[in-house]
Amino acid sequence: MSRVFYLTTPIYYVNDAPHLGHAYTTIVADAMTRYRRLAGDEAFFLTGTDEHGDKIAQAAARAGISPQALADRNSAAFRAAWDALGLGYGDYIRTTEPRHERVVQAILQQLWDAGEIYLGKYGGHYCFGCERFYTEKEIVDGKCPDHLTPLTWIEEENYFFKMSRYQAWLIDTVQRQPDLIRPERYRNEVLGFLRDPLQDLSISRPRTRLEWGIPLPFDDKYVTYVWFDALINYVSALGGPGEPRFEKFWPVAQHVTAKDILKPHAIYWPCMLAALAKVHGKPPEAYLYRHLNVHGYWTIEGQKMSKSLGNVFAAVAPAEKYGTDAYRYFVLREMVFGLDADFSEAGLVGRLNADLANDLGNLVSRATTLIVNLAGGNVPALPAEAKFHPFGLIPDLRPEYERALAEVKRAMTEFGFHRALGAMWEFIGAVNRFVDQTQPWLIAKQIGRRQDLDAVLYSLAESLRVLGILLSPYIPAAAARIREGLSQSGEPTLADAEWGRLTSGTRVQKVSGLFPRVEDHERRPAGTAKPDTTAGLISIDDFGKIQLRVAEVVAAEAVPKSKKLLKLTVSLGSEQRTIVAGIAQHYAPADLVGKKVVVVANLEAAKLMGIPSQGMVLAGSTEDDGALAVLTLDRDLPPGARVR
Ligand SMILES: [Zn+2]
Repeated sequence: MSRVFYLTTPIYYVNDAPHLGHAYTTIVADAMTRYRRLAGDEAFFLTGTDEHGDKIAQAAARAGISPQALADRNSAAFRAAWDALGLGYGDYIRTTEPRHERVVQAILQQLWDAGEIYLGKYGGHYCFGCERFYTEKEIVDGKCPDHLTPLTWIEEENYFFKMSRYQAWLIDTVQRQPDLIRPERYRNEVLGFLRDPLQDLSISRPRTRLEWGIPLPFDDKYVTYVWFDALINYVSALGGPGEPRFEKFWPVAQHVTAKDILKPHAIYWPCMLAALAKVHGKPPEAYLYRHLNVHGYWTIEGQKMSKSLGNVFAAVAPAEKYGTDAYRYFVLREMVFGLDADFSEAGLVGRLNADLANDLGNLVSRATTLIVNLAGGNVPALPAEAKFHPFGLIPDLRPEYERALAEVKRAMTEFGFHRALGAMWEFIGAVNRFVDQTQPWLIAKQIGRRQDLDAVLYSLAESLRVLGILLSPYIPAAAARIREGLSQSGEPTLADAEWGRLTSGTRVQKVSGLFPRVEDHERRPAGTAKPDTTAGLISIDDFGKIQLRVAEVVAAEAVPKSKKLLKLTVSLGSEQRTIVAGIAQHYAPADLVGKKVVVVANLEAAKLMGIPSQGMVLAGSTEDDGALAVLTLDRDLPPGARVR
């Protein structure tokens, strides 16, 4: 039986241009929806724009256009950004659409008829920039805490929603449903808010002061004020109570939001939904959403993102420069869902080069090339008597994969994108080690090892196949290329991501350049180079240029006429090299034979005492007496294994 899944992002306010923060929330919704679809659910996510209020009316007046024209233009900009990023929203709601206004007015009328709304007097310190009143506690030196501008005392009659009557119910509900608001830190924050008495919620503004809004159906001298307009989008997009789409999707509704709008989503909205359920003759929790998923903020290069600092990243910019998959991967991997995280180009490029280009891209290229070169591009049959063993000649990748798969499934039930990706990269690491350890290019040269070679190549092809499925919600374009390289057509499904389903004879093509490396000089556009404040430090990219590998010393001998030098023959697995090392005063040749050491494998060749040396052995030494120790391994690794 297919399940349904419905997820929403907040609707974005059209006084702003789409930026990194909006993009993150929407990427999260897209990745989660893709994952649920992969798992077989009928899934969609909703996004859209919030278009009413003073700020829009004022900005439109300044631009000399109508508020609707401004809203049209800016709403289209958000939509264009999500389209450019390939974010597949299933519906896009705008609060100026008739389908939304109709549902808002219907709900207001029902709550008015049921006595959930009353006319009261409201006086307070008002900030026109924030479009809100501030309490005495919030005011800083008589000024708006956000704008630091003087506040205006306004007294007026307004309509109020009887939110206070739902306080006890809400506390009880949040306590009884530990995963209603998650991660837990935000649930605790909400329970903290609820320790103070809950006030009734002002839901209107007089039209004399604010014209750009939805009129109250029972008093057209007023328009609906922010939350009763904005939050209702989540149900108006489904047509509202009684509509088939609402009845189908609303019972499983989940929201994603940033922590700055926790209170409206965790307090106002549940109370509104409880009142609505009551109106429809249902228990108060009948219309409550299933989960509120709250994420933290992005800082930019360690600083708060703000217009005044000029560090607001446009939503699409990183994708234009580094590709959509790299952008998605970085934000999903870097942010522990619920906590704040830092966005920097160096960080993105570091992950792009290390995780995507090196770990994943190289693996895909290496594995497909091996299958093409050693098996003619056909996946061999898995030999019946293939002897896999965790520590044997041919390690078994199945348990490694099954561990990763289980962790992905667990993590994704709670928005743990970083954990899911971490588990997949553990597996990718295991497959890379598998290639280093089994060395299929050597097996291919050995007589009587055809079955071993088949077992290795089958394991590699199967690893790529399951990765092509499992990675698809996070890096859809790269995952599609992997599946294509393995002739996997049709929509991927999680059910198919079971180890061992790959059939022999499947055609494999070389897949290269999945994620081209980004070199340091390509990173910053001309003219934006920062002054070097980090002299002496190197970037992760610089370090990535040094190839360190495990080498086994096969032979060692003194260099004639030299007190310092030893001539070593080392094995890097697939090849042997000569390295001349200045360690003769500290090691006898016999001490070194059989030792596993670490060498710089991509050092330019040099001649020492006439002997060509291809690499350098790493050793530590003291400054004063020159005592020296060669680096060895804490645990055994095969020669050729990468050190980083
Ligand atoms: Zn303000």
